[in-house]
Amino acid sequence: MTNQSLSNRDLSVLWHPCTQMKDHETFPIIPIKKGQGVWLEDYDGNRYLDAISSWWVNLFGHANPHIIAALKDQLDTLEHVIFAGFTHESAIKLAEKLVEIAPEGLDRCFYADNGSAAVEVALKMSFHYWRNRGQTRKTQFITLENSYHGETLGALAVGNVPLYKETYAPLLMDVITVPGPDCYNRETGESWAEYSTRRFALMEQTLQQHSECVCAVIIEPLVQCAGNMRMYDPVYLKLLRAACDKYQVHLIADEIAVGFGRTGTLFACEQAAIGPDFMCLSKGLTGGYLPLSAVLTSNQIYQAFYDDYQKLTAFLHSHSYTGNALACRAGLATLEIFRQHNVIENNKQLAGIMAKAAARFSGHPHVAEVRQKGMILAIELVKNKQTREPYPWQERRGIKVYQYALSKGVLLRPLGNVIYFMPPYIINEEELLVIADVAWDGIQCAVKD
Ligand SMILES: *Cc1c(COP(=O)(O)O)cnc(C)c1O
Repeated sequence: MTNQSLSNRDLSVLWHPCTQMKDHETFPIIPIKKGQGVWLEDYDGNRYLDAISSWWVNLFGHANPHIIAALKDQLDTLEHVIFAGFTHESAIKLAEKLVEIAPEGLDRCFYADNGSAAVEVALKMSFHYWRNRGQTRKTQFITLENSYHGETLGALAVGNVPLYKETYAPLLMDVITVPGPDCYNRETGESWAEYSTRRFALMEQTLQQHSECVCAVIIEPLVQCAGNMRMYDPVYLKLLRAACDKYQVHLIADEIAVGFGRTGTLFACEQAAIGPDFMCLSKGLTGGYLPLSAVLTSNQIYQAFYDDYQKLTAFLHSHSYTGNALACRAGLATLEIFRQHNVIENNKQLAGIMAKAAARFSGHPHVAEVRQKGMILAIELVKNKQTREPYPWQERRGIKVYQYALSKGVLLRPLGNVIYFMPPYIINEEELLVIADVAWDGIQCAVKD
């Protein structure tokens, strides 16, 4: 088997996610034979440094011995069982741990099997909570400009990235979209905290106007990942928490991408010392091994559904693979690694090394901004550094960086004109320097002519 033979077979039967398949007439698709640590290897023996954690899911490397051992043990015991009327040890233990490590006030765990499904669960639960409490006017959601919450219709509706959303607009529920706190747009001399605070006025206004009809505000704490890794100050979350309480609206924190140490704390909400009413988790939850998601919420919300069956207040939402035993066990093994290896503390050092490795990018004539939160570092390319005029999207400059990096053995997958590093936490200094060097040369290539 070679790259060529497998890609021929692939392209005759498969349809890949988030891909214009015609692109593969010019860019080869890469069949991966195996993974080890931060490295992926294809069938021709080429190696790729996985600088984006295989779409933000992998935390402790491919073929991690601790997770593998846990999964093998689980596989010999129980692979899956219906999760209505039945339960199992791994689901119970994982829920106990999640409730223990989550921000204060999140005491209940509902499982689903991917991030978008978790967002759907949180939206439905919030709406249903108000309905069970007799507040039937609450039917709407508030979301931020440039947000992303997944691809299923409900999740897409509360997202705001036009590239994914616009085509399906006629199918989507109406939402209230508020201009965001994204600090790329701050004035010169204005601090992140000042800008995020100033922008909060627009959210406050919206809440004041619409709270009677609003179930919840949904946000991605600190980093809008799919929205080009745009970032904002924790003060926004603090203000939002207080306003949600004041106006009797739920706060849904979508920590699917930023949870599990990505922004420097275990959960991004911790940096604002707040707890949401719903917290959505997925991606890193299983260390990148198996699909699983969870929605954590409060016992107070849970109680609004708890009654005699005939009252018809129960949350009758389910997925066939809810609480899958293998996935839950991978989650447990992942949390064990966090505990045993002091990951959050070690990541501070790694984040520092990443910052140093990327320091020179801010001086590049086509880089408008280098920004970082913990283990996410983003480099925004522009056509004109002074005016920040972006490159026309049709030129696909980011893809040129992607192509160049692949030829040098690094997997970077830019979002439009934003190059970012979001590596597994087991990466070392030398590998971080390689990523930065390759990104630099890739950018030189991409901005030529
Ligand atoms: C990836 C992502 C989702 C969707 O998760 P899927 O598992 O891809 O459905 C939702 N919200 C955020 C913030 C994400 O980054």
